[in-house]
Amino acid sequence: MPTAIPQTNPRAEYLACQAEIDAAVHRVMERGQYILGEEVSFFEKEFAAYLGAQHAVGVASGTDALHLALRAGGVGLGDEVITVSHTAVATVAAIVQAGAHPKLVDVDASTYTLDPAALAGAVTPRTKAIVPVHLYGLPADMAAIMAFAKERGLLVIEDCAQAHGAECRLSQTSGWKKAGTFGDAAAFSFYPTKNLGAFGDGGGVVTNDAALADKVRLLREYGWQERYVSAVHGWNSRLDEIQAAILRVKLRQLDQWNAKRQKIADIYDRCLAGSAVVQPVRAADRAHVFHQYVVCVKNRDQIRRALADAGIGTGIHYPVPVHRQPAYRALGKGVNLPTTETRCAEILSLPMHPHLEPDTAELVAAGLLDAARAG
Ligand SMILES: *Cc1c(COP(=O)(O)O)cnc(C)c1O
Repeated sequence: MPTAIPQTNPRAEYLACQAEIDAAVHRVMERGQYILGEEVSFFEKEFAAYLGAQHAVGVASGTDALHLALRAGGVGLGDEVITVSHTAVATVAAIVQAGAHPKLVDVDASTYTLDPAALAGAVTPRTKAIVPVHLYGLPADMAAIMAFAKERGLLVIEDCAQAHGAECRLSQTSGWKKAGTFGDAAAFSFYPTKNLGAFGDGGGVVTNDAALADKVRLLREYGWQERYVSAVHGWNSRLDEIQAAILRVKLRQLDQWNAKRQKIADIYDRCLAGSAVVQPVRAADRAHVFHQYVVCVKNRDQIRRALADAGIGTGIHYPVPVHRQPAYRALGKGVNLPTTETRCAEILSLPMHPHLEPDTAELVAAGLLDAARAG
C-alpha cells in the first residue's frame, strides 16, 4: 500500500505558492544569469535581515556551509572540534573535510541537543571550536555553550540546518534572538525538506563578522579575490540563482509555516499526553520550530511497521549514531555516549510538515497509540 500520509511533503509547499515560484524561476531563466547574480544577493540580504544578522552567504549545501564556516573561522589541520554523534552525518563530515578532528560528546536525555556538562571532559589544548546542533528545530543550550566557549576562547559554529526561525534567549532578562545569531557563525541547509527548503541543494553561512563572511565568499568560488585570481585555496560551492529565487518566495512563508508546524506539535502533544509515548520537551527560553516531532517508544521498529501498514509514514533521525558508522568508527574509540546509544533505538519521527492537516495529525496520533498498545 502506498503511504497515504507522508512523513514530509515538500511538493505541497510548491503547490501552496506555485504561481509565485513559477514566475520566479521564469524570471531567472529569462534574465540569463544563472550563477551568483542578483537573486542570490537579494536572498542573502533578506535572509540575514530575517535572522537579525549582518551577513548571509549562499553556498551549495548545508554540509558546505559548515565546512566553509569552519575554514573561514580558522579551523584546520590538527584542530579539534567538539560536536555530537546524534546528528546528521554531515555535521561530522564537514569537520573532517575542514581538516579537523571531531570530538564527539553525548546529548542531553530530554532535549537531544549537545549536553553542556560534557564539554569540560572533551576539551583539550587542541580544541578550536564547538558545533552545537539545533536538532529537530530545538535550539541547543546556547547560554551554557556560549559561556563555556567564551571562557576558553573557542569558536562556535551553530548547525542550524533544522532550525530556520527557531529562537532562544540567554537568560530571562535578555531578548529573544534567532538561532544562528549566537555563535561566531551559523550554517543553514536549504535541502528540500528543511523548514526553509529549495527545490535542489543549497546552504548558507550567517555571521555578524564581516571578515568571516568575506572569507566564505572567497572560499565558495575558487578563492577568487578577483576573477581568475585565487588569493587562497578555495572551492566551488555556490548557491544557484534559481534556488535563490525560489528561497526568496518561500522565506516570506517561513514564519507562517513554522507556526503550522507548532500547531501540529500541539495536537500531537495533546493526543499523546498521559500515554507511554515519550513526547518532545519544550525547554524554557527556547522556541522550537519542529523540523521534526520525535517521540520515544519501546518496540520502535514494530510500531513503525504497524504505522506503515496503516499508511502512516515515519522516519528515524537518526538510526545509527555517527561514531557507529563504518567511515567514522575510529571516532567512537574511548568515548562513552550512553544517551546517544540508547535513544537511537527508540526515536521515531512522526509526519511533520506545514501542510499536514490537523485532522490528519489526530489520525496519526491515534494510530501511534494503537500501535504502541499492541506493541
Ligand atoms: C540536513 C542537515 C545537514 C546537511 O545539509 P545538506 O544541505 O543536506 O548538506 C547538516 N546538519 C544537519 C543537522 C542537517 O539536518
